[in-house]
Amino acid sequence: MGREKSLKRRHPWVFSGAVAKVQGSPGPGETIGVWSATGELLAVAAYSPNSQIVARVWDWKERAIDGVFFQERVARAVAQRRELLDGAATDSLRLIHGESDWLPGVIADRYGDAVVLQLSSAGAEHWREAIADALLAASGASRIWERSDAEVRELEGLPPVTAALRGPRDPTRITIAENGLKFAIDLEHGHKTGFYLDQRDNRRRVRELARGRDVLDGFCYSGGFALNALAGGAKSVAAVDSSADALALARANAELNTLAQPEWMEGDVFQLLRKFRDQARSFDLIVLDPPKFAPTAAHAEKAARAYKDINLLAFKLLRPAGLLMTFSCSGGISADLFQKIVAGAALDAGVEAQFIERLRPGTDHPVALNFPEGDYLKGLICRIPG
Ligand code: SAH
Repeated sequence: MGREKSLKRRHPWVFSGAVAKVQGSPGPGETIGVWSATGELLAVAAYSPNSQIVARVWDWKERAIDGVFFQERVARAVAQRRELLDGAATDSLRLIHGESDWLPGVIADRYGDAVVLQLSSAGAEHWREAIADALLAASGASRIWERSDAEVRELEGLPPVTAALRGPRDPTRITIAENGLKFAIDLEHGHKTGFYLDQRDNRRRVRELARGRDVLDGFCYSGGFALNALAGGAKSVAAVDSSADALALARANAELNTLAQPEWMEGDVFQLLRKFRDQARSFDLIVLDPPKFAPTAAHAEKAARAYKDINLLAFKLLRPAGLLMTFSCSGGISADLFQKIVAGAALDAGVEAQFIERLRPGTDHPVALNFPEGDYLKGLICRIPG
């Protein structure tokens, strides 16, 4: 009783606790019907016996789940994004955003002529070949790399997979264009699917804000924000990451764009911000784009302390009229909570601050209204008085 409520609201996950009985013995990824206590068909879904999310919905009515189904869903997602590709200036974007494109467990990112596919549920895994065929047809790409090596696969009982799935394996290192800047992507070893496409619009925003400013890019990965700041006329740029591989890519990216090399620093942002404070080093624009500290709400409290810590330190390093562009990509931290954390950080830093913009990813990262979990990336641009 009442266990079907979330399904009736069209949330696509069925938790194991909501299931009274399983008929027959469906295998991982196989298509099953989901029935209410009163015998009404609620959805057709992919079964995942090893996961707490025991089924993910493909559709809300009786229908065949087959190659045609994936052709339709994939083509629809790809078509919605067509206008975002901007000739030579931007050739890379997210094509499929999982549950929010009604394809649970399927992420597909386009990098120039290549598509990187990440499958993270038993159902997506089961339909790998159909999804790959559909992607190749809808995108017109010449090859597909699979990067199904996200940790969440463990929860589904799936092994990590990294492989060339369609077309040639090489080159694994390619160059993409984003708003007129070039970035090297390592298809095989890069973070996630190779690049943080969700920050494209926000990186452009930094370009617009950076002119004449001393900029710090915390958690810089391959230099996305740092290089946009330089392209926008920043006076100086310092950028920090804990990963030597990320910084090697970042250096290569500065060269690709014939930009000056920022001051790249390998290290821990938590420690470096403290060092800057002790040195009385200050900035006009600070970007903080940390990894997810809270994958789920269960980690929210510890994550909140971490977000507060770095934001507090950043506020202290800002000069008068300085800007802080700060993000959380934690699913477990709501936009509301994030704002409260940042407000607490400013309070404890002893600065009066305003926020002047809320940030989210570009429109290639939509959020299905019935899937609030899709709203993971949130950001604020804060300003302190001059
Ligand atoms: N802003 C980047 C994406 C950042 S992803 C872009 O636009 O592309 C988060 C980055 O933080 C990763 O590159 C990771 O290596 C780095 N990182 C994680 N923990 C860190 C820490 N404590 N200090 C510094 N860098 C860290």
